Amino acid sequence: MNKLDTALVTAALKDAGFGLTNSAEEADVVLINTCSVRQHAEEKVFSHLGHLKHIKESRPELVVGVIGCMAQRLGAELLEHEAVDIACGPAQIPQITKLVKKALKTKEKSLAVTREIRKTNPKNDALEKFESLYSRADKRIPNQAFVRVMRGCNNFCTYCIVPFVRGPEVSRRPADIIEQVKKLAGDGVKQITLLGQRVNAYKYKNGDKTYCLADLLSMAGEVDGVEWIRFVTSYPSEEFFDEILQAMANLPKVCNYLHLPAQSGSDKILKAMNRNYTTGQYLNLLDRARAIVPGIAIAGDFIVGFPGETEEDFQATVELVKKAKYKNCFIFKYSPRPGTTANKRLNDNVPQEVKKNRNIELLAVQEKISDELSKKFQDKTVIVLVEGLSKKPHLNTKEGENQLQLVGRTASDWIVVFNGQENLAGRFTKVKITKTTPLTLFGELC
Ligand code: SAH
Ligand code: SF4
Repeated sequence: MNKLDTALVTAALKDAGFGLTNSAEEADVVLINTCSVRQHAEEKVFSHLGHLKHIKESRPELVVGVIGCMAQRLGAELLEHEAVDIACGPAQIPQITKLVKKALKTKEKSLAVTREIRKTNPKNDALEKFESLYSRADKRIPNQAFVRVMRGCNNFCTYCIVPFVRGPEVSRRPADIIEQVKKLAGDGVKQITLLGQRVNAYKYKNGDKTYCLADLLSMAGEVDGVEWIRFVTSYPSEEFFDEILQAMANLPKVCNYLHLPAQSGSDKILKAMNRNYTTGQYLNLLDRARAIVPGIAIAGDFIVGFPGETEEDFQATVELVKKAKYKNCFIFKYSPRPGTTANKRLNDNVPQEVKKNRNIELLAVQEKISDELSKKFQDKTVIVLVEGLSKKPHLNTKEGENQLQLVGRTASDWIVVFNGQENLAGRFTKVKITKTTPLTLFGELC
């Protein structure tokens, strides 16, 4: 979501005549797009702001804006920070050009946050226009783009800040979404990722017809030029589940990858998290996914150290991870968020050290599973959509070899690293896998 918002804001400012620089030191304006999901993310922003305050001491004309969820959460409080000129929440990003120009001209501080985000009209015309006008291919990863199909969330998992900062759940009009997909395909985009906090809950009523995510997948699949379609993140619920899997099985463009966060393997903790399913129901969904879509790759999210999580609860999570056989897992240490039910009603009573150890233990369990799954790719040929140059140098570079290392992903989201020319970025290519590690496949161009 944040990558998409950043891309929209960048496109809007470019159209208004601004250009990107490589460092804050050279910039006239610095915007930080922020996340409030965990405290650590907010701490990093404050550390950036400290650095910017320093720059402003010698260049007071520098304009600094904080956009996104942290701006929405902290509002006026954020403007009290010496470095900050603009605080602009996620629902106010259509105003960004106006706010930046005003700050450059007047040096006055501006606050743009929706006061009571849950009471705002969810069919936000300004956001709709902004979204369709500035939807572009992602320049950092060529030929790929995100398309939001839903805004906000109504689920109120007790640990989660998202419903408070992103507002109520609203599904966008199918016609607007498909129009956007067509425009992106016209610009050369080959991979579209449909976004929603509970993307499988997408629902839009138009006359007698109720559109669900499976309908969007099928309509997007008909757009010429689009080759791969992904969607994130899914919520473990029965509604539309089989329809979406059928679409994945039947539509060749829909990638066989499902991100289905479980959060915990303990029914007691799931209840305290307000997740509305049991471990048994969750595993049943995984069985169905694997029965309907052979070869499907599944990824999960877990929170360790939720209030009241005993060693027994944690071991239940370990068991779930072992049974689920995820391709990979994102594991987070519980971080209390102001205003959430868990923070108001439950005591953050799992010591930091225990959270850390559980995180390490669960990662190790998952690593073994990922290792086993990745080994199945040895000597196989896979199709990869190339993202660009690999950021970190990997081990397989032969000494003296002058080739560049590229990184891409398979349809089932496996990361593949191989040597090749940079002009392959944004294109599909075949790679023969010669070596595997838990998270990365290494290979050679075919
Ligand atoms: N809408 C998505 C993801 C939301 S945030 C979903 O429901 O799956 C992404 C991930 O951050 C969540 O899946 C959860 O694992 C983690 N997360 C959210 N709030 C958190 C918190 N307070 N502390 C630690 N991790 C958190
Ligand atoms: Fe947060 Fe739960 Fe909504 Fe996901 S479904 S965004 S975890 S409240």
